Amino acid sequence: MLIGSYDLSLVVLSLCVAILASYTALDLAGRIASAKGIAQSLWIAGGAVAMGIGIWSMHFVGMLAFSLPIPLGYDLAITLLSLAIAMLASGFALWLVSQPELPAWHLGLGALAMGAGIGAMHYIGMAALRMQPGIDYDPLLFALSLLIAVLASGAALSIAFRLRRDTPYVRLARGGAAVIMGIAIVGMHFTGMAAANFPAGSYCAAAGSGLDSGWLASLVVVVTLAVLAIALLTSILDARLEVRTALLSSSLAKANAELTQLALHDGLTKLPNRLLLEDRIGQGMLKVGRNGGHFALLFMDLDGFKPVNDAFGHHVGDQLLVAVAQRLRAHLRAQDSLARIGGDEFVLLAELRQAQDAANLAGQVVSLLSQPFLVEGHELRVSTSVGIALYPGDGSDQQELLINADAAMYHAKGLGKNGYSFFERSMNTNARQQLQLLHDLRAALERGEFRLYYQPKFATGSERMIGAEALLRWQHPQQGLLAPDRFIGLAEKTGLIIAIGDWVLDEACRQMRLWYQQGRSDWRVAVNLSALQFCHGELVDSVRQALARHELPANCLTLEITESTAMHDVNASLAILQQLSAMGVDIAIDDFGTGYSSLLYLKRLPANELKIDRGFVRDLQHDGDDAAIVSAIVALGQALNLRIVAEGVETRQQQAFLTELGCDSLQGYLLGHPLPPEQLPAA
Ligand code: C2E
Ligand code: MG
Ligand code: MG
Repeated sequence: MLIGSYDLSLVVLSLCVAILASYTALDLAGRIASAKGIAQSLWIAGGAVAMGIGIWSMHFVGMLAFSLPIPLGYDLAITLLSLAIAMLASGFALWLVSQPELPAWHLGLGALAMGAGIGAMHYIGMAALRMQPGIDYDPLLFALSLLIAVLASGAALSIAFRLRRDTPYVRLARGGAAVIMGIAIVGMHFTGMAAANFPAGSYCAAAGSGLDSGWLASLVVVVTLAVLAIALLTSILDARLEVRTALLSSSLAKANAELTQLALHDGLTKLPNRLLLEDRIGQGMLKVGRNGGHFALLFMDLDGFKPVNDAFGHHVGDQLLVAVAQRLRAHLRAQDSLARIGGDEFVLLAELRQAQDAANLAGQVVSLLSQPFLVEGHELRVSTSVGIALYPGDGSDQQELLINADAAMYHAKGLGKNGYSFFERSMNTNARQQLQLLHDLRAALERGEFRLYYQPKFATGSERMIGAEALLRWQHPQQGLLAPDRFIGLAEKTGLIIAIGDWVLDEACRQMRLWYQQGRSDWRVAVNLSALQFCHGELVDSVRQALARHELPANCLTLEITESTAMHDVNASLAILQQLSAMGVDIAIDDFGTGYSSLLYLKRLPANELKIDRGFVRDLQHDGDDAAIVSAIVALGQALNLRIVAEGVETRQQQAFLTELGCDSLQGYLLGHPLPPEQLPAA
């Protein structure tokens, strides 16, 4: 039997290579774990090459350290095959530890496969000697070497898997593990070598023809070290880069989060603001669309917040809002969103099992906030009005839901505060339409959208027309011709009626002037006045100017004021009416019978005409009372020396009856509808 010997320095060198290869492998495992997609595949491929060369060269240097008393050489093809096997085994190992999990059976199978790979590499590498006769292996040592290979592989895999994440001291830990793994690999190699018996008389068939061992050792070591060093360096640099990128991106993420917090939250209470709320409502709508169910928007407005603010200052007011937010927040379920969308306005978005649960929730909120708050030593009490909009049902988008919840909240306030209301269609359609109408109304005068229609008045008993009442119409660009009940109230509320009233006065006088010139000098045009115009100081001047502008005698104009307007502030009315009357303008008391006139005052008013409200006229036939009232009014008017006009005459019977009662003139659809001046029959 040939006795082999070892070159100690090469043995040490092989150990160093083994340790370095192990360390590189561990480091690469870390790289692979944190890389993604293509980068991960590239790291596995590159790692397999570097690590395969490392393990293989350890083995090969270990072989070179071995010498027999006969010349040795290595078959190139077989040697390369052993290298390829080392790379394959390495690639497999790296892939295995790059998986998100490494269960025990993966580890077991992996260790077997990798151990078999290393064993195959070793013994195929030995076969490259092409010994004749073949090497005689000691079965026990052979098995032991394989066992070591499998155990070392298992240890290597599990260590690599555990150390793949960057933890503190990971480099030190990898270093220690690399030394142990290096020793295990070398141990396997030399156990395998110890298993090999070379029978006496053996010779190496690869000697001479194959690779020569002298310069090979240095070449292999240099190339291996270079490959390992490059792999290691790349890995370390890449890790550095990754750490820096991670740092950068984490600070970016932090800055982003702060910005988002600022943009989407209310600075005072830290609650979501309207923007975020709308987003959450949108998500809620999607969820309901997918899974069904309901949610409710509870629009809460504090009652009595402003007085607190005024009495204790903004600071206390702010603290109160924070306290309200905290109390609500503490009470809510995690899946509900609370937002602050305005001064003292909060909105709660709550998922519901049943739509009716919203009532319970709203009740809880109301009672929760009615408990006093202690802010800076003050005991503060507020209450809440809550408007509830449900989805699905009360709106098709975020804005509509919010507007409707808001409208319901106003309704709750109107009902006496400290309570809640469910949204109903009637609540906001009105509010929103009124708003739009007001907007249009402001522009209507300038755009010349007002028209005057004229309804003829006839003397009783004859077909003779004695004048016409000017009735305002608004030619609305979208809604068409609007009657005064649609907009007069709004115009009065906003004071626009003053300017509109002046226009009516002027336009009616202009028209009357035309009729006058056409020979209708006996006609009177009647203009309705609103209470506001009547109280406004300039009425008398306006009337005088209108008459003067159109060179119209004062007795061509009748001013109609309602009974309640005239009676509201009797003394003031008296003064104005007296001036107008002194000018020669006719005064009519409109809608007579609907108010509560004191006969005494009526007697003092310088009125010329009483217009019986059409409500009485309408029910004349059916209602004995109305007939009695009308005849009483007629009698009263006659006693006061007033002309009596009946309005709303729609039937022949009414006409006959009113004529019989002694009315002076009649007005109504039977005799003529309100029409544009050019369409008046007698014009
Ligand atoms: P009013 O002064 O009592 O005017 C009479 C209203 O009765 C008019 O309605 C007229 O169209 C309607 N009417 C006339 N005959 C009949 C009839 O036979 N049957 C029925 N059912 N209705 C009849 P309109 O034009 O809608 O005006 C409503 C009210 O608006 C007026 O009541 C008046 O108070 C007010 N108004 C109209 N024009 C003006 C204006 O220029 N200024 C002010 N301040 N108020 C105006
Ligand atoms: Mg009238
Ligand atoms: Mg009337």
